Amino acid sequence: MTNAPPSVFVTLVGAGPGDPELLTLKAVKALQQATVILVDDLVHPDVLQHANAHARVVHVGKRGGCQSTPQAFIEKLMAQEALAGESVVRLKGGDPLLLGRAGEEVAYLHSQGVGVNIVNGVTSGLAAANTLGLSLTHRAYSHGAVMITGHSLAPHADVAPIDWEMLGRTAHACRLTLVIYMGVTSAETLQNALLKSMPNDTPVAVVQNASGPDQRCVMGSLSVLHILIQDAGIKSPAIILVGDVLKTITDYNSVINDSQEIYSMARAAT
Ligand code: SAH
Repeated sequence: MTNAPPSVFVTLVGAGPGDPELLTLKAVKALQQATVILVDDLVHPDVLQHANAHARVVHVGKRGGCQSTPQAFIEKLMAQEALAGESVVRLKGGDPLLLGRAGEEVAYLHSQGVGVNIVNGVTSGLAAANTLGLSLTHRAYSHGAVMITGHSLAPHADVAPIDWEMLGRTAHACRLTLVIYMGVTSAETLQNALLKSMPNDTPVAVVQNASGPDQRCVMGSLSVLHILIQDAGIKSPAIILVGDVLKTITDYNSVINDSQEIYSMARAAT
């Protein structure tokens, strides 16, 4: 690590949840100026319309059956290109500062003497709330929200797994809404763990492709979360919302109108 202030920078840019109109002006400017753009898999292809026509675009995502590019390779490539004088943008879905490995990338780039600028984007958890017309906070139901991954169910080498039972108890007692990213494939495990400390009829919603033309959602209660997901064929990328604040969605029709499809409430009561 050098002590001199960095003279070259990489810009981490949030591409938002899908709808390209949710890009910030800063994101557009960074894309126009970039000569090398590393793109994550959840970035909507239309976002790249704002890229400089001469920019080199490198897709580093893992969807569509392709292997994901190893994180270490991405980090090295960013540093190398920046140190070679390129204007490098790392384009990430949603906001780069949430569940996007930005922490590791910033640490690596700093260790190479490369500075980092960050451009926020709209995170998909908030876009999912928007799909439902839902305020995540409400004076009667929710003091705040917990944005959390549903992915790390298995213990990571030196990090304890999430204690969902304890989280559910805290969320229920403190009136917090859970906004769970990457939770669809482990929904049954999440459901069973949360049910140890949350009431069966705690409302849940799952929103797939929030903000996109193909967004869909299901709503019901915690006791049937994974069945709702299964029946509707909800797939990643999706956000699971859990908490009493969902009771404020009384105008289901407007949700249905804003969403291409909704599977709903029939299964809700148990
Ligand atoms: N940094 C991103 C999150 C990356 S983790 C952000 O701020 O949104 C990837 C997870 O985000 C997906 O598995 C899914 O849970 C969620 N996600 C991303 N885009 C989404 C979308 N359009 N609709 C619903 N969930 C989405």
